[in-house]
Amino acid sequence: MDEHAPLARFTTIGTGGPARWLARPESLQELEEVLGWAARQEMRVETIGLGSNVLAHDDGVDALVVKLAGELATVRVEGKDVVAGGGAPNAVCLHRARTAGLGGFEFASAIPGTTGGGVRMNAGAYGREFRDVLAEALVVDARGVRTATAAELDLSYRHSNLQPGQVVAQVRLRLEPSSPAAVKALAAELLARRKASQPTNKRTFGSVFKNPEGSPGAGRMIEECELKGYAVGGAVISTRHANFIENTGAATTAECLELMAEARRRVAERFGYELEHEVRFLGPLALPSL
Ligand SMILES: Cc1cc2nc3c(=O)[nH]c(=O)nc-3n(C[C@H](O)[C@H](O)[C@H](O)COP(=O)(O)OP(=O)(O)OC[C@H]3O[C@@H](n4cnc5c(N)ncnc54)[C@H](O)[C@@H]3O)c2cc1C
Repeated sequence: MDEHAPLARFTTIGTGGPARWLARPESLQELEEVLGWAARQEMRVETIGLGSNVLAHDDGVDALVVKLAGELATVRVEGKDVVAGGGAPNAVCLHRARTAGLGGFEFASAIPGTTGGGVRMNAGAYGREFRDVLAEALVVDARGVRTATAAELDLSYRHSNLQPGQVVAQVRLRLEPSSPAAVKALAAELLARRKASQPTNKRTFGSVFKNPEGSPGAGRMIEECELKGYAVGGAVISTRHANFIENTGAATTAECLELMAEARRRVAERFGYELEHEVRFLGPLALPSL
């Protein structure tokens, strides 16, 4: 375990102070051991995947941060199932599915996370999400190991009932027979659509806010508040898609948060919607109430 590991290195936005402890368990047994250790210390546990939807406090996070590695990040194919460690990147799962002639996971081609993060967030794109392909997940916490289905995890729009300290150690994705060429073509098409509309080559943490039901969408509303290009320090609201914040170099989490607060305030004033943040906070972060 590493003490005071800098989280900026583990988040795609590239901000955040140190984690009090960072553990990289490589097996189920090691994961259970570190969770048991944290429970005995009465220490909070947070899990991080590829850090692609996470904002960590600049002063650091007083917790044991778990990042799955080793066999908890590997992928194998069993018949129509892709069985992946919770720390396995979506891209690797998609590659294995494609070579095995299995379709249905192409939506994840543009989601730069792990399967564990995908389940926690019920990540999705282009009309499909993890809930549609998850047969079951292996969830580990200080009390032990259990399996849970998408329904048991209450997966819905960017939501699950997983709490900090509950780690998705493995997922079983149930896919459908396809051809490697068809999987490749669909994934490439979705990726191209994504590149045309979002700042995929910049440091971001993905969507800032959830899209409120019945609204024109968070991005559209922020854009109509004329906030595209609005900057605080090194953080700027993307000119390509207003529901993204880019780190132009030396942004801090506090600067990202300031942009979020301003966007939220202006959208509430103009459209009457209270935007809810999609990005997950690590450490004592909060947006001012409206
Ligand atoms: C350019 C870009 C595009 C994106 N596009 C999309 C998109 O189209 N659709 C979409 O839904 N999201 C999108 N995202 C957001 C992000 O990629 C997804 O939410 C992704 O599923 C997060 O996975 P992660 O492994 O990076 O998790 P992290 O960002 O590290 O963590 C996210 C949350 O999941 C928890 N978590 C992570 N791993 C585990 C685990 N093993 N067990 C339990 N909890 C865990 C964390 O504690 C945190 O609460 C995008 C992000 C970027 C940067």
